[in-house]
Amino acid sequence: MSGFGERLAEFRKQSEALNWEGSFDEYLEIVRRHPEVARLAHARIYDMIVSAGVEETPEGRRYRFFEGKLFGIDPQIQEIVDYFRAAANRLDVRKRVLLLIGPPATGKSTLVIQLKRGLEAYTRTPEGALYAIKDCPMHEEPLHLVPPELRPEMEQELGVTIEGTLCPVCQWRWRESGGDINQFRVRRLVFSERDRIGIGTFTPGDPKDLDTSLLVGGIDFAKITQYGSESDPRAFRFDGEFNVANRGLMEEQEWLKQPKDFMALLLTLAQEQNIKVGRYALIYADEAIIAHSNLHEYQRFLTNPENDAMKNRVYMVMVPYALRVKDEERIYETMLAGSSPHGVHIAPYTLNVAAMYAVLTRLEEPKDKTLSLMDKLKLYNGDPIKDISDYQVDEIRRQHPNEGMSGISPRDTMNALTYAMGQASVPCVNPIDLLRALRYFAQAQKFLGFVNPEAQKTLLDMTAMVRAEYDKIVKKTVMTAFVHAFEQSAQHVFTHYLDQAEASVQHLKVTDPVTGEKIDPDEAFMRSVEEQIGVSATAARAFREEILVRVAAAARRGEQFRWDSHQRLKEAIEKKLFGDVRQLVQTTTSTKTPDPEQQKRRDEVQEALIQQGYCQHCASALLEYAGSLLQRE
Ligand SMILES: [Zn+2]
Ligand SMILES: [Zn+2]
Repeated sequence: MSGFGERLAEFRKQSEALNWEGSFDEYLEIVRRHPEVARLAHARIYDMIVSAGVEETPEGRRYRFFEGKLFGIDPQIQEIVDYFRAAANRLDVRKRVLLLIGPPATGKSTLVIQLKRGLEAYTRTPEGALYAIKDCPMHEEPLHLVPPELRPEMEQELGVTIEGTLCPVCQWRWRESGGDINQFRVRRLVFSERDRIGIGTFTPGDPKDLDTSLLVGGIDFAKITQYGSESDPRAFRFDGEFNVANRGLMEEQEWLKQPKDFMALLLTLAQEQNIKVGRYALIYADEAIIAHSNLHEYQRFLTNPENDAMKNRVYMVMVPYALRVKDEERIYETMLAGSSPHGVHIAPYTLNVAAMYAVLTRLEEPKDKTLSLMDKLKLYNGDPIKDISDYQVDEIRRQHPNEGMSGISPRDTMNALTYAMGQASVPCVNPIDLLRALRYFAQAQKFLGFVNPEAQKTLLDMTAMVRAEYDKIVKKTVMTAFVHAFEQSAQHVFTHYLDQAEASVQHLKVTDPVTGEKIDPDEAFMRSVEEQIGVSATAARAFREEILVRVAAAARRGEQFRWDSHQRLKEAIEKKLFGDVRQLVQTTTSTKTPDPEQQKRRDEVQEALIQQGYCQHCASALLEYAGSLLQRE
């Protein structure tokens, strides 16, 4: 059979499975073989997450289900999966509303979308299959047809738990049929948010149009005349979001902003697995409930004594913005991958600069006054600063439990990037263009939450901080590009330094590579390296000894000690190399009329930058900018 024929056959087989319909007895056979088809909602979601794969890492469990979509919220994901695990085991938490607290456009919306799309796909697979009573408006579990007296026996036989009662419509049909279960048909159920099956979403809109029937359904007045009574279940529309979400997932946006009676309906659903509707008996529903709110609303909720009874009925997880620059950068990369940046080149470090800025706006001032906000940003990102240990960084994090709950969102910075793209006169946007756009956005009050003058000033100060950081990056990038074969040169300086330092510490002579003569170690050379980082003549010996000890220790561990292995020595080597070319870079980049030799060097450097991901436009903009920076020194 051809490849296409096989796929067609596979497709036919799959759609047959999805359209399965049978008798109640046939369904019982399925449950006997695959008891998991009768799982409750939380267990289904938990199994779905775990079935995608779990990885044990030193930082905790990583769930492949969320991979590539969510960045910087691993601990929160872990907490949420823990909730589902406990709820799947029918612990008490399943009766609580999972409440995600966080600012807009954090991972929380993405996370819920992941779960929804995941369920749609999972319920199409054999492992995620589930079934419903045919023509039931709540697409309920067929085992509800088992009378209470027979349940214990059947639960034991099938290895399942049967929970819940028939919905009003099925009850009516059951009575009409004289209690004949064989009148009911069972069908395979596939979740679809668009078709309103198994996934419900509620966003409170205009308060004037708010009606609880949006959640719990309502009376179909046209049908009352047909069926004669308001309490005839056939005259009821089971089209509220709670009805729709039965067996699956119910998402409530801005829950704490909703009217009291709306909030109460959700709590009843969570607590009692019941939907309360006007004059009907309670309707059983099995749903995992996720509600969202922001920190401000949550704090108001907590401080209002009227809410005391509700407080222990929620399971709260704070979902902050990313606080690590590298995570934030990955968020932008995913956002950009989903849209087309109109053929505009994004220069290296543009997203890095955007991420630094966004993260800065989310950080609280460090309690330790010797640290700057930028230091803290680097520490969170895992960049070493002033010999501060990982343990101390964790300690700093603990001092700021609400960090990341405010600040500008990834959407904000991406808006500024789009604006910068629109302003650019060339098909390339670079960090300076972006910083200009961010300044404009701050001044024009385009960042919600930063509209008062004080907040505006803070934002402008932050553009200056990021700019200073970017300037360092520029100098280093351009200088490195100017040093021919930078890595080799650095490694060469390093080995030469080590040879000399070793001889000097042990009071030995070194061999001149050309003449073979025994000569004194090159003190002037060593000092030219050490002076770069302010090692005094008296401290030189101790510094050299320290380096030699480190080299020996690394050798014992079987590790390679490179020119950049020791933070301070690395800095000294860079500075020495840069010192050698500084004058050259300065004159070459800033002169308006370069001579042929300068022009040649400039072209070479530009070429080296293009190798690193720059385009013609941003490479020459970078050189020009570096020239102006060095001019000022
Ligand atoms: Zn039903
Ligand atoms: Zn470019």
